[in-house]
Amino acid sequence: MSAGYEFVPLPDRVSVRQRPEAVHDRRVEGTLSGTLSLTFATEQLVHVGSGFKALVEGKVVRQGMRVRGRPGVPGSSMKGVLRARYEALTRSCAPSPPRVLDVRSQSRPSIKRARLAQRALNQPAFHAHEGHEDGLCPACALFGRMSRRSRVTLTDFAVEGHDEAFVTAPMPEQFGPNLHHVGPATVQSDPRSGEEGGSREIFEVHDLHGRKFAVGRGPLPERHGVQAVECIRRGASLRGQMRFVNVLPAELGGLLVALGWRPQSALKIGAGKAHGFGRMHLAHIEYRLRGLTDDAARESEEGWRAAFEGWEDRFAEGMQRLVAVHQGDC
Ligand SMILES: [Zn+2]
Repeated sequence: MSAGYEFVPLPDRVSVRQRPEAVHDRRVEGTLSGTLSLTFATEQLVHVGSGFKALVEGKVVRQGMRVRGRPGVPGSSMKGVLRARYEALTRSCAPSPPRVLDVRSQSRPSIKRARLAQRALNQPAFHAHEGHEDGLCPACALFGRMSRRSRVTLTDFAVEGHDEAFVTAPMPEQFGPNLHHVGPATVQSDPRSGEEGGSREIFEVHDLHGRKFAVGRGPLPERHGVQAVECIRRGASLRGQMRFVNVLPAELGGLLVALGWRPQSALKIGAGKAHGFGRMHLAHIEYRLRGLTDDAARESEEGWRAAFEGWEDRFAEGMQRLVAVHQGDC
């Protein structure tokens, strides 16, 4: 059994600067534009919920997302996974974590809350854009930020081939994030407690291990609920496209790492990622780039990889960890 999640360290410095390539209204010399047709192969059951429930033979089933009438994954979910991975392998900002959260502790069941100490919130990644309003970090430059449009879009992905039916499987009920596990924590007295007759203690988290990625098979509370969910089966092919404009060779190299293509690693998507659900890998890419044949694009992969390796905005430690976490049994 694993913890159910792994951490990728945050960068000590975020690279925020002007990025002339981050535009849509004109072609930028030396950049690439086009479409990648992507085929992912699922290795575990994948559940991306539609938000609807159905009654099937007397039991409640959480329905899976449908794309063009088939089981699938919306482009927004795919983009979310890609962005989180791209952030981890570049010197990018990170969304600031919540200061206080309700938690469930196995070892100290009386404690119901955790808070982040100021020190944990002082990470450069949480404050990267403060005072640099027109600068962009690598992930915001590519995937967008506030009014800045993304240069990368993902279409919806649908299951291909014969086996187009969902399978229904039991999944442990989802719990809130365990804030007291995101870094070293101590038990402190809680000044806010007592009012509601709750615990007088709280977990205080002093530091953060980094960006959290749900993987493996984490522990479950002794009495946990199970829900029936509709899943894309194992071994299914999910097809869709990634389209992009004005992407630097180094950025494309980074996207290929984020896609788990070069080097190979798995992606985790949907619900239950910490309980043996959601793993898939990129099985096939077809290139349609402006001014490049598919063969020429394939031959350029090594050059894009090298450009990313040599890029000042790459975060080597993060990349190494992200890939290691997603190889093998994640
Ligand atoms: Zn950013």
